[in-house]
Formats: sequence, C-alpha cells, structure tokens
Amino acid sequence: MIEYLTPAEIDQMRPAGVFVAQVLAELQATTTVGTNLLDVDARAHAMIRERGAQSCYIDYHPSFGGSPFGHVICTSVNDAVLHGLPYDYALRDGDLLSLDFAVSVDGWVADSAVSFVVGTPREQDLALIEATRVALDAAIGAARVGNRLGDISAAIGAVARARGYAVNTMFGGHGVGRTMHGDPHVPNNGPAGRGLRLRPGLVLALEPWLMSGTDQIVTDPDGWTLRSVDGSRGAHSEHTVAITADGPLVLTARSA
Ligand code: MG
Repeated sequence: MIEYLTPAEIDQMRPAGVFVAQVLAELQATTTVGTNLLDVDARAHAMIRERGAQSCYIDYHPSFGGSPFGHVICTSVNDAVLHGLPYDYALRDGDLLSLDFAVSVDGWVADSAVSFVVGTPREQDLALIEATRVALDAAIGAARVGNRLGDISAAIGAVARARGYAVNTMFGGHGVGRTMHGDPHVPNNGPAGRGLRLRPGLVLALEPWLMSGTDQIVTDPDGWTLRSVDGSRGAHSEHTVAITADGPLVLTARSA
C-alpha cells in the first residue's frame, strides 16, 4: 500500500532526516585508514542511544537476509555494494566504503547512504562515487508532482548509461515513513513516462547504486553482504525525499 503523508507529517519526519544526516557526516569525518568496521557500527549505535532513536536494522530479518542483521549500519567495502554486514576488518588505504543508515526518531524513519574512499583514492573509484551522486541528484530532480515513477528510474538509468555503468534493478528505492521499506519500489532504471503518477505526500528513499564492471551480484556466506560477481567495486548514494507541492524536499541533506 502506498502512503501519502500530510505536510504536517512530513514536518514530523524532519528530525529523523536531520539525525541520519548528522550520523553519516560524523562517521564519514571520523572513518579513516585503520578504522575497524565494528567501531563504525559501535559509534553509530552510541549516537542512536544518545538520541533515543530506534535502529531499523538490528532486528531486521527480511526474506533475503540470512539472519537478523544484528548491527545498526551497513558497511559495504570495495566489491561489496549493499547490505554490508559489519565485521572485524580494519579499513586499508584506498578502500571504498559505503555506509547505509536508517533509524526511526519519534516514530518516523529516514534512510540515507554515502560512499567515500579512505586514504588515497583511485580515480575510477571517485568517478564511480560521483556517478551515484549525479544519478541521485537526477532522481531527486525528477521527484516532482505530475511526473511518474518511471521518470525517476529513467533519470537514474540515463546517468548510469552515459557514464558506462550497467544497472542492477533487483534492489532500488522504496517508500519510507513510519516503516523503513514501503511501497512503491523505485527501480534504478526503466522507461520514463510510466508508472505511478507522483503526488504530494509521497516520501521515497531514492538510492542509485552502481558497480564498475558488472550488473550482477552475489550474496556473501554471511547471508547479507551483496558483492559484485566480478570483484569490481560498487558505490551507493541515497536520500530520503518528500514529494511536495513546492518540489522535492531532501530530508536527509547533509550540510557538511
Ligand atoms: Mg538505505
């Protein structure tokens, strides 16, 4: 079922969006060569406790997950691109890290992801990350009243294609509000001008993720981490975006 929120309800989502943005900015600023993924998770967990927020991940156990997630943030490194389960790993120079984080604050969920390189970046990794950012901006630009859902998908797909990346549409954007994952699914590619007509009050997590060499993924033995089949690296950019009469409102915008 697709939920449409009132302007007052969208306002109530703002604190969740601000908090998710703060946590990701803080983690990006403090994560460097040598940082352990379990410490990234622990820092996020401490901030959740301090804020009195609720993790959307720790007990999360959907059909595609091997077991309850057990952590509060996804840490996907290099050829891992989505749902990276934190484990005892100290980041190395040049690692590409994607952090995906969703929490509930006062009953409202915000969901956002950021990718960055620790230490010395490779040119191709920066280009890949930039492609997901540009694709996300294009998706947000298409999240307008009167457009259709397919316009968002097409905007993402066009950026990916123009930069030479194939797109996997198995996982993509989704409705978000009182729960982390609601209808509709927002594929990261597809024809423009089709699908649901966008109306004020629809709140979507838009999340282009791309891999540099393939569009095929495989699940790790940990039951969660999704990795490219060919070892090529992946990147991921995500924001929670409310469609309003005044245009798209990015609830998880990071000022830093
Ligand atoms: Mg997310």
